[in-house]
Amino acid sequence: MRGVQADLVIRAPRAIIDGREQSAVVSVRDGRIVAVDAFDAAVGDGGADGARVVELTDDEVLLPGLVDTHVHVNEPGRTDWEGFASATRAAAAGGVTTIIDMPLNSIPSTVTVDALRAKQEVAAPQVHVDVGFWGGAVPDHLGDIEALHEAGVFGFKCFLADSGVEEFPPLDPDQFRAAMTETARLGALLIVHAEDAGTLEAAAPAHGRAYGDFLASRPPTAEDVAIGQVIDVTRETGGRSHVLHLSSASALASLRAARAEGLDLTVESCPHYLALDADEIADGATQFKCCPPIRDHTNQDELWAGLAAGDIDFVVSDHSPSTADLKQFDVGDFGLAWGGIASLQLGLPAMWSSARERGHTLAEVVRWMATATADRVGLHHKGRLEVGADADFVVFAPEEEWVVDVAALHHKNPVSAWADHNLHGQVRQTWLHGIPITNDSAPGGRLLTRGQR
Ligand SMILES: [Zn+2]
Repeated sequence: MRGVQADLVIRAPRAIIDGREQSAVVSVRDGRIVAVDAFDAAVGDGGADGARVVELTDDEVLLPGLVDTHVHVNEPGRTDWEGFASATRAAAAGGVTTIIDMPLNSIPSTVTVDALRAKQEVAAPQVHVDVGFWGGAVPDHLGDIEALHEAGVFGFKCFLADSGVEEFPPLDPDQFRAAMTETARLGALLIVHAEDAGTLEAAAPAHGRAYGDFLASRPPTAEDVAIGQVIDVTRETGGRSHVLHLSSASALASLRAARAEGLDLTVESCPHYLALDADEIADGATQFKCCPPIRDHTNQDELWAGLAAGDIDFVVSDHSPSTADLKQFDVGDFGLAWGGIASLQLGLPAMWSSARERGHTLAEVVRWMATATADRVGLHHKGRLEVGADADFVVFAPEEEWVVDVAALHHKNPVSAWADHNLHGQVRQTWLHGIPITNDSAPGGRLLTRGQR
């Protein structure tokens, strides 16, 4: 232990450290990692000085807790859709130890400091994992961006097309430029739902039970046009921007070129775009409705190529639940149903199941879902197993197969596109700040603010 007294020692025959799988002994004190030693060197050590010793088995891999920067908790205001208690329980059960909450579908939206305070107040006593907040950039509250930034939000979300809720309107091109001019001045991130309103209006509106008709209502060009706008305004303002939930692979070439110019622009995608296939979505199956939509297999292969090449930086859930009635299963109309997929607890096994089939390693999945997300929001002490990092851990059994029972998941409403899917990889235990999270444990999560530990 190199002279450092530990209160917890995890002996892991397999751990993801420094971007690869290796054996290690990870020592923790006061919720932080204080040593990462070679596996053999520490045999018999640890217990002697009173530390709790945890031995992992050969079928388990120690991972850093995942950092999911795209989660809609919806409390206060739409707590029947999801709340902080249920969402953070689901997160913990899925190996996610940090979430950053989106500024919409709660009421109020997080577009003022007062709204942020209201959210923090309701969240504080309930959270089982660490939680930070995004602010919102909407037309009437661009003047609140600086105060929200000072109050510690991790950046600002905006839409370039209808958001689905009337209290969070989109920005027109001039407003978008004004928003990024302001975030650029502050050094804040502007994260963008990049679908172009005009392109969507020109397409036939979503209607009826056929998934193909819904897909046609949100063509790839809507994303490609909006992403072109993001690139142009990022270049013009020198801002820091981020494309949320990329679904259209045809935007990858322009994104790659923009990043090669040196623009501070990152890109995320989601497990449902990378692992679910439009051709397999049944008519009326509105649990698969999300915006942008899940596209076809060829597009999916191109997204994976983009991920492998580093053109997509990371993968987040975009957990966006609702009550079951809003999915309109009785009529199955894609025009009427709420768009959003509940998946917070399933992101890791869903991604790993596809990644392993495509020849990717667990270390890559950790980079996509923990390290890269943490780094983009400045949480450099999360998403990695190294000295000084938070002792947030996942004990993951990558070869264990299981079938998703949606009623057994912890998020509030038993609806998910992943229902009945056969997945590889089971989260056996999650630790936050060196303490295991169990079904009985009291809420031990902390509220995070940008730039502070
Ligand atoms: Zn979202």
